[in-house]
Amino acid sequence: MRNPGRSIRSKLNAILVVTTVTALLLAAVALFLLDLRRELADTQEDLVTQADVIALASAAALAFGDRKVAQENLATLRAKSGVTAAALYDENGKLFATFQPDDAVGEVPARAAAPGVRVRGDWAVAWRPVLSNQERVGTVYVQLRHERLAQALASVAGLVAIMGGSLLGALLLSNRLQRSVTRPILAVAEVARKILIGEAGGLRAPKTTQDEVGDLVDAFNAMLDELDRRARTLEAANAALRLSEARYQLAVRGSSAGLWDWDLPAGTMFYSPRFKALLGYGDVDFPDKPESIDRVLHPDDRAAVRTALRAHLRERQPYQVECRLRDANGRWRWFFVAGAALWDAQGRPYRMAGSVIEVTERKQAEHELQESSRAKDEFIATLAHELRNPLAPIRTGLDILKRDTGNGPVSQRARATMERQLQHMIRLVDDLLDISRISSGKIRLDVSRIHLRSVVDSALEISRPALSAAGHAFEADLPDDDIELMGDPTRLSQALGNLLNNAAKYTPPGGRVALRVRREGDQAVLRVEDNGEGIPPGMLDRVFSLFAQVRSTLDRAQGGLGIGLYLVRSLVTMHGGSVVAESAGPGQGSAFTVRLPCLPAQPAAPKHDAPAKAEWPDEGLKVLVVDDNVDAAETLALVLEMEGCRTRLVHDGLGAIPAAQEFAPDVVLLDIGLPGINGYEVAARLRADARFADTVLVAITGWGSEQDRRRAGEAGFDHHQTKPVDLEVLRPLLRRGRGVPPGA
Ligand code: ADP
Repeated sequence: MRNPGRSIRSKLNAILVVTTVTALLLAAVALFLLDLRRELADTQEDLVTQADVIALASAAALAFGDRKVAQENLATLRAKSGVTAAALYDENGKLFATFQPDDAVGEVPARAAAPGVRVRGDWAVAWRPVLSNQERVGTVYVQLRHERLAQALASVAGLVAIMGGSLLGALLLSNRLQRSVTRPILAVAEVARKILIGEAGGLRAPKTTQDEVGDLVDAFNAMLDELDRRARTLEAANAALRLSEARYQLAVRGSSAGLWDWDLPAGTMFYSPRFKALLGYGDVDFPDKPESIDRVLHPDDRAAVRTALRAHLRERQPYQVECRLRDANGRWRWFFVAGAALWDAQGRPYRMAGSVIEVTERKQAEHELQESSRAKDEFIATLAHELRNPLAPIRTGLDILKRDTGNGPVSQRARATMERQLQHMIRLVDDLLDISRISSGKIRLDVSRIHLRSVVDSALEISRPALSAAGHAFEADLPDDDIELMGDPTRLSQALGNLLNNAAKYTPPGGRVALRVRREGDQAVLRVEDNGEGIPPGMLDRVFSLFAQVRSTLDRAQGGLGIGLYLVRSLVTMHGGSVVAESAGPGQGSAFTVRLPCLPAQPAAPKHDAPAKAEWPDEGLKVLVVDDNVDAAETLALVLEMEGCRTRLVHDGLGAIPAAQEFAPDVVLLDIGLPGINGYEVAARLRADARFADTVLVAITGWGSEQDRRRAGEAGFDHHQTKPVDLEVLRPLLRRGRGVPPGA
């Protein structure tokens, strides 16, 4: 609230009062003094005139000593008001005649004094010489009480009263006038105050006069209108800005991108906190300067970044570049950098901003994709090579068999080679199928309690041909007490067989291969050692990856597909075990150690006997072979007949049923993909016929997945065999069909 003593009005009043009072006082005092002086001069003059008249009139009376006349002359002063005493003195100064009016307030001095006029207070006295013929004959004295001072004071008082009155009037008038000026100003001030404290936004000052103050109020109100309009515009702009800022912040928060903003003339670069966080830097080690990014940019990517930047700034092409940036841990990571510049009217770029997004994973995926595409191409080439490789000796073998009809030693060698090559091809295809089962998670272990020795025997059966073909010396170091474990014997011998095959394959002819088996606590340890070409240290773990090979497979004769060790590790891991490779380096040989969990040692484990060579079933076993591949069917029938079986061939599904009814086979080897009705359907129909209740139905098919096996079982098959049929595998099945238990 405004202090009333400080208001303009009170100040104006104070000024008015002070100046007016001062002026009036000065004027009154000056007037009073002037008047008093004139009055006194008049009084003196009057007094002197009176005295001179008395002197003139009384000169003769004094000269002649006529007191009476002198007294009468003095008495004329009675007519003169204010004269309180008068006297005449002779030439010696002695009192001659006196005059004192009735009130007798005056005094008459006893002796004459020197001529002159004296004024003291209200009193004035005049001493005048009385001359007669130029000679002084005496002195006249007149005393006057003039009251000029009182009169002057009275008139001053009147003046002061008038002045006071008029001052008061002026004060009132001026107050009124001032109020007509200050009231609208105060109203303006009050409105301004209320608007300032936000009490009334739309309030306006009232216009009460049409004068300059009215103009001021109008201007003030117009200014408020304009301010209101601008405030509304500003508010709308602010709201839009807030919305856009919120949207921007949300986008920035929600985005995985880091942002940068480069002020080209100022040479400063803003990096968003997310940008720095992406790389793991802080404000100190990554200041907002263009050099910061230069410092972490991979030297090999600098040229690409600069070229893209120049192309954008000069030709205004989109700025998009991928580059490596070093993070706070010193790791190079890939980023996609994009941005756009702003150009001024002269076409000079003055600002550029954009984002960075990490693309390391995509880059790695791209790299892996390229690698896998390359590996796939290589794999297909190798596969073709690997499949064709065994075909050459088989074809040559066939030629030999054709010519050497006498079944001499050449034919026998050719047959052994062909068998080995065929085994190799079968294993290859089996491995490939297993890979696909492993990668689709469909491989199942047929786990039972098994003897490790039987696994070793099966594995040796698989790999012995390769070991002896290469002329390697093979040593098997097996524990006396057999080790028992829970596992799938087929899969474990497949894994061990792969390791032994590799040892044979990657050891120059005439080398040494050893298999050492021992128990270490609750683990069975199988170690396959060779003195072959060895493995470089960097490859020791990588050789277990799919398609991984130490050397490019096409440049060597003993190539594989790079899937054997992958299978080994997958199968061993599925058994809860592990496998590692060791090698002192190229040319230093290798060792592969498999560890498998095993069962506690049995105190008196019976000595392992090698399974007796399975015998062929009794002669005269009737086998119906159903296969639309005439060659495959005939060769199979040929082999079976050579072994003493009686056979009948059918090449389609529908023909199989009447053939079976007529032939009454003990065993039906039935292909699945058949013209007419498929193998499942044939099996189902046979099973529906009570005459074939004891007939062994064996599915012979190229499809070996779990699903295929299950479907075969559902259709009524007893067994499921993938092509080509291995007679060794077939043999026990045939025996079982005759009511003989397996392994008997
Ligand atoms: P493949 O033998 O079909 O190439 P593997 O997965 O069995 O595939 O083996 C992968 C690679 O590991 C082989 O190409 C070979 O370079 C290397 N390797 C495997 N076993 C041995 C071994 N005993 N001695 C030397 N190198 C081996």
